[in-house]
Amino acid sequence: MQNNLIEIKNLFVEYKIESALHEQKKVFAVNNLSLEIKQGEIFSIAGESGCGKSTLGKAILRLVEVKSGEVLCPTNNSYKDILKLNKKDLKKFRQNAQIIFQNPYSSLNPKMKIYDILKEPLIVNKELKSLKSLSKKDIEQIIFNTIEQVGLDKSALSLYPHEFSGGQRQRIAIARALILKPQFIVADEPVSALDVSIQAQIINLLNDLKKKFNLTFLFISHDLSVIKYLSDRVGIMYLGEIVEIGTSEEIFNTPKHPYTEALLSANPGNKKEKIILTGDLPSPSDLPSGCKFHTRCPHVMEICKTVRPCKTQFSETHCGYCHLY
Ligand code: SF4
Repeated sequence: MQNNLIEIKNLFVEYKIESALHEQKKVFAVNNLSLEIKQGEIFSIAGESGCGKSTLGKAILRLVEVKSGEVLCPTNNSYKDILKLNKKDLKKFRQNAQIIFQNPYSSLNPKMKIYDILKEPLIVNKELKSLKSLSKKDIEQIIFNTIEQVGLDKSALSLYPHEFSGGQRQRIAIARALILKPQFIVADEPVSALDVSIQAQIINLLNDLKKKFNLTFLFISHDLSVIKYLSDRVGIMYLGEIVEIGTSEEIFNTPKHPYTEALLSANPGNKKEKIILTGDLPSPSDLPSGCKFHTRCPHVMEICKTVRPCKTQFSETHCGYCHLY
């Protein structure tokens, strides 16, 4: 049994937005969400755009403000709540937890050479114990090794981001995420801005790096084919909540939740009958009561409209939230 690297408990994230009529509205981006990410796995989050996937990834790294909940991570012999870390401990945690963003065009500073982009995290974090004693030569060697690990030549280091293709830039973004030797990486739609022909190369690179360095990934994507290929376990998210979690096989071969079934049926590779959802997708600032999916669910019952479904365990690794079970 793998150990948990991250345990998320009852997480809530809310934003305030201003409507076109200048009214202040609350957006409930993540709602009472709990899940575990196991050491060395690729745990993927799938769901429609706007379901809160990216907010969840950022909340785990404390890149957005969290309303309440816990994000527990093992430090020495105990679990610490990342949301309560002081500035110094947060810096240490961030050495161990990195993020790869969707768009490699905007995530790299266009004015810096690749060498300096990769050197920056080593300098900014130099007071960390593991980096304190690094000489100039050591830093150079780490940068050389890391650029080669992502499949680029050392000659890339003297160039600027605009001199690379999208796929090469994403390799550089991955190198920057790897440079501090993290254990945990949030990959937020890392291939969706790339050409289809390049996507497979980046996916294979992430998979190879995971195996080589025993990395743990939270992989966020709307592309179910990529998720099926890459993931150990998958969580399906709808309006800020997890509705089903299972191994990749369980989710793709024996989905239980009506939303998972509808999502899979809409995937271009699906050979079964397509499930057409009627009813509008509710606004995340005006969430329905009970089961959040009840306004669109083909199996809706009276209880669904008022009572939030409890967790049902289908197997040791497979669970979901639905009144049908
Ligand atoms: Fe559908 Fe009810 Fe299950 Fe929600 S709880 S998914 S509305 S059957």
